[in-house]
Amino acid sequence: MKPKASTKPIFALSIVAIILVMVSIETAPAGSLKCDLCGQDITGQYIQSNGRNYHPECYEKHAALRCDYCGQIIKGQYLVDHWGNKYHKEHERSVPACQYCGRLISDRTSRGGTIYGDGRHVCGYCLADAVNDITTARRLMNSVKDKLKAAGINVENDAVKLTLTDRNGLRHISWSGHADESGLTKYVEQTIDSVCIVRDFEIFILHGMPRIVFTEVIAHELMHVWLYTNAPKGLSLALSEGSCNYASFIILNQSYGAMAEFELNNLLTNPDPVYGEGFRRVKRLVSDKGVACWLDYLKVHADFAQGY
Ligand SMILES: [Zn+2]
Ligand SMILES: [Zn+2]
Ligand SMILES: [Zn+2]
Ligand SMILES: [Zn+2]
Repeated sequence: MKPKASTKPIFALSIVAIILVMVSIETAPAGSLKCDLCGQDITGQYIQSNGRNYHPECYEKHAALRCDYCGQIIKGQYLVDHWGNKYHKEHERSVPACQYCGRLISDRTSRGGTIYGDGRHVCGYCLADAVNDITTARRLMNSVKDKLKAAGINVENDAVKLTLTDRNGLRHISWSGHADESGLTKYVEQTIDSVCIVRDFEIFILHGMPRIVFTEVIAHELMHVWLYTNAPKGLSLALSEGSCNYASFIILNQSYGAMAEFELNNLLTNPDPVYGEGFRRVKRLVSDKGVACWLDYLKVHADFAQGY
């Protein structure tokens, strides 16, 4: 199967609001006006912003809204990201955002950052707990496996190989299987007289992803292993990818912190018809019938039942 196009753009600024701040310069009528900041009389030109009046110096020093990226005063439209940073709208197109958390990358907003060799922009926060060594990766994979098992999903195959790679590596391998955005599960089956005798699984996953994202992607790929082992071939994409994202959902639901909440929200609101809508359909199925029933359903059906 052809690799699926990435569902996240490279510049993945996480905008939660676009707000307008009105700033105008007015001239005070004689006498009556007082500064809303210092309380002193205003004479001559003053600043009016969102219904309040300021001396120009008071406004500039203490009241003006400043951009978290460049530090300059914001007048007019600005963006607020998931982490509460406020930006001039024009930075959206000119400054790279972190691939994982969506912060604009700069010393002020993201503790710096870097560009990986495969083109991913990653900020200082996400770099701080990025998974880059295979020992950590295996340990995290085993802990995710245990959590999935406790939730009822038993990925029996103990011999799942794990390889860290980059985007170019994923693209290179993806001719042999279905590639997700950040990982890929390769499946090799040897059969004699149409009886399967050996099943080999190898999960390829991007290096350098923050820990939460790594666990969510590995859960998704482990569910692919479960599907290869238990479900009929030719499962619809929405049912298989939706099911795999449900495994990610289980793991994110058990994780703590702002990044887990951010990823959970991305999963719940993903507009993609396969990864997003497919997941929400599986979620409805599981909340109606339970995990065991969903897994039993996957063993004998290739697509969603009516009503889901
Ligand atoms: Zn003042
Ligand atoms: Zn700015
Ligand atoms: Zn980041
Ligand atoms: Zn997948």
